[in-house]
Amino acid sequence: MEDVPLADLDEFQEHTGRKEPYRVFTPFYRAWSGYVRSRLAPPPGVRAGELPTAPLSLLRWPLPAELAAALSAAVPEDERPERQLDRFLGGSLQAYEELRDRYAQDAGSGLSRWLNVGALSARRAYVLALDEARCEDERDPLAFGGAAGWRADAAVQLELALPGSVEGPGSAPRDPSAATARTGAESWVRQLAWRDFYLYQARFDADFFRYEERVDLSGLTEEHAEAWRQGRTGVPLIDAAMTQLRTTGELPNRLRMITAMFLCKNLLAPFTAGEPWFRKQLLDYDNTLNRGGWLWSSSLGFDASPYFRIMNPVVQSRRWDPDGAYIRRWLPERAGMSAASVHEPADRALVDLKASRARAIETYKQLLAKPSRPLDRLT
Ligand SMILES: Cc1cc2nc3c(=O)[nH]c(=O)nc-3n(C[C@H](O)[C@H](O)[C@H](O)COP(=O)(O)OP(=O)(O)OC[C@H]3O[C@@H](n4cnc5c(N)ncnc54)[C@H](O)[C@@H]3O)c2cc1C
Repeated sequence: MEDVPLADLDEFQEHTGRKEPYRVFTPFYRAWSGYVRSRLAPPPGVRAGELPTAPLSLLRWPLPAELAAALSAAVPEDERPERQLDRFLGGSLQAYEELRDRYAQDAGSGLSRWLNVGALSARRAYVLALDEARCEDERDPLAFGGAAGWRADAAVQLELALPGSVEGPGSAPRDPSAATARTGAESWVRQLAWRDFYLYQARFDADFFRYEERVDLSGLTEEHAEAWRQGRTGVPLIDAAMTQLRTTGELPNRLRMITAMFLCKNLLAPFTAGEPWFRKQLLDYDNTLNRGGWLWSSSLGFDASPYFRIMNPVVQSRRWDPDGAYIRRWLPERAGMSAASVHEPADRALVDLKASRARAIETYKQLLAKPSRPLDRLT
């Protein structure tokens, strides 16, 4: 278990000296960044070359033979985790910050399924992303320079095959694209931190897997849940996303948030009506990350979205995909519509967005104000 997250979560918690776990992402991220950097870099004042050299075979983190054989048989050469990581780091990483929410372009790494089954190490992905960014700023505790500098140094000392990665600590990025690469890498590493944050919650929040028992969801309804699953709500972005999910097993992160929030808030369904559907459909399904996403979307759990902040799928669609390319791709009946009207709900839409938003705010305000049910009465 300790190798699933990037940080060793028990040691991290001890390292922070806190009695209570972090409940909010930003302070967690700040502490996590410093911790991870200190664990992946040698102690201050020690050069990597002065450390005993580990055998290269260890540094390459070889997969267990059985898993490697199964992967070779099941996954085409070009789609292997390491290849995919290389392609992403050498390509889309630079524009990741700018494009990650532009779901029509799907600029994510697509690595979640490999990270989730352990076919790709989160630590290796982290260190290689830092290398790619070649960031060298030692001053900022959130900066990536320390680890990147160490990695570059180690690359020389240990003769790893990392072309172009050799930079001394403290040196500036060599070309203008390095600043973009740094932004891309920071933004991507932040997502790896979100992954750790949900794993951390699962470890330290005793309620993480039983909020539905602690909170009274009985006032909510599954009336429209099936229409949502089948992409028949009449709200184009929701229907397009649910069609993609059903057809391919994939769904970009922003659309997971929008569709989950729409089900929980606008359609007033309990999150437990949607969580198992994602479980069945997602190729990268992971019990902890899926639950974390659903808790966030339904304003439950640590650092959940506030109950009054509800994403409007039409506003989101106009913002992240102004031409409506994504809707046209998944809903052919909308392919010929103008950019102005393609995002608009159909006349037969299940709910009016404004009215259902107001209803959700009122309902969740009351629901979250009720005291949690004590656990000892549950058994
Ligand atoms: C309702 C909901 C359900 C989700 N269910 C799952 C699930 O079952 N399995 C799963 O792997 N992810 C889940 N996520 C998180 C996220 O949507 C996916 O990890 C991401 O879309 C995977 O695409 P990628 O590999 O291209 O990510 P990238 O954008 O390349 O990000 C890199 C890695 O960071 C991690 N990551 C990215 N975004 C998040 C996030 N919001 N929360 C936690 N970790 C993140 C993933 O491991 C990902 O592979 C869910 C999110 C929501 C809102």
